[in-house]
Amino acid sequence: MKYYSTNRQVQATGLQEAVIKGLAGDRGLFMPERIKRLPASFFAALPDLSFQEIAFVVADTFFGEDLEPETLQTIVCDTLNFDTPLVPVSNHIYSLELFHGPTLAFKDVGARFMARLLGHFIRKQGLTEVNVLVATSGDTGSAVANGFLGVEGIHVYVLYPKGKVSAIQECQFTTLGRNITALEVDGTFDDCQALVKNAFMDADLNGRMQLTSANSINVARFLPQAFYYFYAYAQWAKQARKGEQLVVCVPSGNFGNLTAGLFAKRMGLPVKRFIAANNRNDIFLQYLQSGVYTPRPSVATIANAMDVGDPSNFVRILDLYANDHQAIKQDISGFSYTDDAIRAVVSTCYRQTGYLPDPHGACAYQALVDGLKPDESGIFLETAHPAKFLETVESIIGEKVEIPTKLQDFMKGEKQRVERSKAFDDFKQYLLAENLSVIY
Ligand SMILES: *Cc1c(COP(=O)(O)O)cnc(C)c1O
Repeated sequence: MKYYSTNRQVQATGLQEAVIKGLAGDRGLFMPERIKRLPASFFAALPDLSFQEIAFVVADTFFGEDLEPETLQTIVCDTLNFDTPLVPVSNHIYSLELFHGPTLAFKDVGARFMARLLGHFIRKQGLTEVNVLVATSGDTGSAVANGFLGVEGIHVYVLYPKGKVSAIQECQFTTLGRNITALEVDGTFDDCQALVKNAFMDADLNGRMQLTSANSINVARFLPQAFYYFYAYAQWAKQARKGEQLVVCVPSGNFGNLTAGLFAKRMGLPVKRFIAANNRNDIFLQYLQSGVYTPRPSVATIANAMDVGDPSNFVRILDLYANDHQAIKQDISGFSYTDDAIRAVVSTCYRQTGYLPDPHGACAYQALVDGLKPDESGIFLETAHPAKFLETVESIIGEKVEIPTKLQDFMKGEKQRVERSKAFDDFKQYLLAENLSVIY
């Protein structure tokens, strides 16, 4: 399969190059040149298939031309060593719990898949010292760091904004050591993301180090996120009432997760429409309303993984819909919630249904409550475990939240991080110095 750039200024490239480069040479995002529709027989059989079986079929449509079936099978099975159950919350609303992986957030799926695919390429090519740069507002860093921990030939640099990620999130990528380095940047998430993007654009730096990205722009991270939309449908089809149509609501920041859902729909998955749930960073909602895309600096909220002022996957959505604002509006609607509203939702949802959402899932739950029409049934993506946002959630409900053992284990480790400024030159000199110490 070839991957073209959304900017179309460079030639389409193969899977390995798209995965290693992350971002195309013209700063565009890679897109697979074909999105195959799956046969009706597959959808009819879905409810009887396991998550891994479903994921393999989906993975095969994208990666089957480039990987041996056994290799792909191993990567898929190793990636999905945890379940993503669909849990009924209220009458027509279900939660797709994507937080049962090692770092308790949905990003485990894409990060684990990408780490294994990159590890495969490195072994095959005898590559060494591939440096993965990843900017995080919290969950990406932990998922990527844990996904890549101990993978030979790869060093991971996690860039995170000082004082803007929760204590629990921070310990999930600062306590690992080995091939993982955490960089605490004196700036915002957007500053971290800009440092990473600039590093890829710096010819001098790229001539001296092998750099790649593990942000949701990477095709190996975002395409595997389509797996659980199919599995969600399989579980939903067994529980839904006759005649109901499915609406899927995604709490969105960089829009990688939602874009993977749009791909699933393009492959034939019977989702009627999607809802993008935002916090106050509602650039996408404004685009839906006005047809004009105006990125702006992000503001800090209690759903901090969605504090994004210029969602990187927006260009993929535009590309998928050939810039047709009307068509995009037909498939996606949007809602945005202030911190006060999110607090109220966490509390009401918990009291009324007994289900405790995290602040991100809460936005998506409420968007279904506000947006579902008669004859529709909704799934919201519960993207993280509520204990990842412990102080926030406990202060809202006035009760202790049980911390899963996986999370407690991280909190026992020793935090190690390197403090950096947000100046690119500073970052570049640091990387070069690190790289030299590796070579000599
Ligand atoms: C990353 C993240 C999001 C946003 O996902 P995107 O793919 O960037 O839109 C939502 N919720 C949680 C908990 C996250 O970690």
